[in-house]
Amino acid sequence: MRIERVELYEVPVATPPGWRTALGKAAPEVPRILVSVAHGDAVGWGEVVAGPSPAFSGEHVGSAWMALEQFVLPPLLGRELHDPESLEQLLCWRRIRGNRMAKAAVEVAIWDLFGQCHGIDVGARLGGTHRAVPIGTSIGLHPDIDTLLELIDRRVKAGFRRIKCKIEPGHAIAPIRAVREHFPAIELTVDGNGSFTRDDFALFEALDELSLAMIEQPLEPYDLVGHASLQRRLRTAICLDESITSAAHAETAIALGAGRIVNVKIGRVGGLSEALRVARACAAAGVGLWCGGMLETPIGRYASLNLATLPMFGCAHDIPPHGHEGRDGFAGPTLTMVDGMLAAPSGPGLGLEVDYRLIERRRKRRFRLSHRESVSVPGPARAWEAGGKEVRPDPLAPLPRCAMEPLTAAFE
Ligand code: MG
Repeated sequence: MRIERVELYEVPVATPPGWRTALGKAAPEVPRILVSVAHGDAVGWGEVVAGPSPAFSGEHVGSAWMALEQFVLPPLLGRELHDPESLEQLLCWRRIRGNRMAKAAVEVAIWDLFGQCHGIDVGARLGGTHRAVPIGTSIGLHPDIDTLLELIDRRVKAGFRRIKCKIEPGHAIAPIRAVREHFPAIELTVDGNGSFTRDDFALFEALDELSLAMIEQPLEPYDLVGHASLQRRLRTAICLDESITSAAHAETAIALGAGRIVNVKIGRVGGLSEALRVARACAAAGVGLWCGGMLETPIGRYASLNLATLPMFGCAHDIPPHGHEGRDGFAGPTLTMVDGMLAAPSGPGLGLEVDYRLIERRRKRRFRLSHRESVSVPGPARAWEAGGKEVRPDPLAPLPRCAMEPLTAAFE
């Protein structure tokens, strides 16, 4: 399978109304990068889950676009790929440190393309066995407790299997205690997005009394020793999110006892292959697993849904069903939640159909790389049709050496 054409699209995506976490308040719309890779008539899709700012991981839409355009995509073009598992080594991606969300989007797109070209279901190829997976929901920070309780009531009635409430310093004990009093039987978790410090251990000891299913990412991502110290004080399991960016990080966290659950995000760890390695490391150590969410479009959600079918994933996932929080519109089939469960997608590929024309209409900019041309198109679709394009340097120059030269030069 040869990659003949790669395209990037930046599209605006609606966020849940009033969405706020310890990392900040989201604008009503945020930019997202969608990646397509093509072989003949077959097209695979992936999504860069980086947001407009580097708050979550250090990556953001601007840095990811540049990394893709300059370093990640050029080595890909024209290469013969026999299977997606060998992609990272073939393309020397380990020489591109970080930029995991950018690399993950391309890797997922290639898994999708590979599945389509060979009639293979990606979930099954990964080893997935679940025919349906449980779904939870995440609720942002709300200053008013009554509003929070109302929102949770609606989500519980909608059938979500787990309710996760975001917390931050000054907004943790009172709202969560109120939620627990009103909903004594729900599976309830909290997520601090790394906003607390080692000075806040007493606060978590108070939360420990509220029968939470887990406390997600209480401390800053790099403080694994702090997480281990906190975990020793708590009965409640700590779940690591931002801390785990690779299987090696997962193994370190496990060795330190920094948590008992890991939330796997394909973008955060750099792709499906690394997500699989994280899952295997956790499962071998008896660490619980589930798939987290990043306000994805259906493209990212389908990728997570395929991963969530793995037998070691047992907790409810943050994979919103169709129509939930306004992030649908250009990919299907519909993700319908039945009794708090989503059915596993059926292949080939990720199992989704993308409405290419709708993406083209919505896009803010596009970049296309093929053997014939390398074209960057700002602005709406009309500019492209009118020929408003900028031809870049020779795309047929030797690869991947060509793409790595800027990196090499920086060290010479
Ligand atoms: Mg989280």
